[in-house]
Amino acid sequence: MVSPTDGLLRLQEGNKRFLSGAGHADRLSSEARRRELTKGQMAFAIILGCSDARVPAEIIFDQGLGDLFVIRVAGNIVAPSQIGSVEFAAERFGIKLVVVLGHTGCGAIQATLEELRRPTEGHSPNLRSIVDRVRPAVEALFEGSIPPDDDELDHRATRANIRASANQLRHGSQILERLIDQQGLRVVGAEYSLDSGEVHFFEGA
Ligand SMILES: [Zn+2]
Repeated sequence: MVSPTDGLLRLQEGNKRFLSGAGHADRLSSEARRRELTKGQMAFAIILGCSDARVPAEIIFDQGLGDLFVIRVAGNIVAPSQIGSVEFAAERFGIKLVVVLGHTGCGAIQATLEELRRPTEGHSPNLRSIVDRVRPAVEALFEGSIPPDDDELDHRATRANIRASANQLRHGSQILERLIDQQGLRVVGAEYSLDSGEVHFFEGA
């Protein structure tokens, strides 16, 4: 079983390979590996990431078939089905590391900021359910001093949303609380930069 520390190292090293163009995910997705994995999966990390087409976890971490258990949803929000997926993977496969992966330039964050500035009735109830999950973390940024500019606000909102999702996973499930207390499950927050391609683990790592 891969420890959370070793899992983090594998992700960080994979992101470095992705950045340098020295990735070996092709080798890790070979036919031989595919056949080997029909017996079962042995992923070493659970990634809760955004659906944004520019942030596919396997590619930016240079991982292959069977390495990552990935849950993708716009705005990397945490709703019951995301918690259930994390519970399933952590319990069934004994995975010890969960990464909440947000990113710069996230459309869900921008939609929430727009909604807070100018509330509209235009969203479908389904889209609204995503904005409503992001809203509490971001709303707090509008209280007190206003950040200097839109970029800074976007930056702070992205990180606040990642922290909120990580905390919901840590405290929103008795199963996950038990795994954290007794089995050493770790939940960390990370931000992917669209500009640099770099993943910064900034919370709980
Ligand atoms: Zn996004």
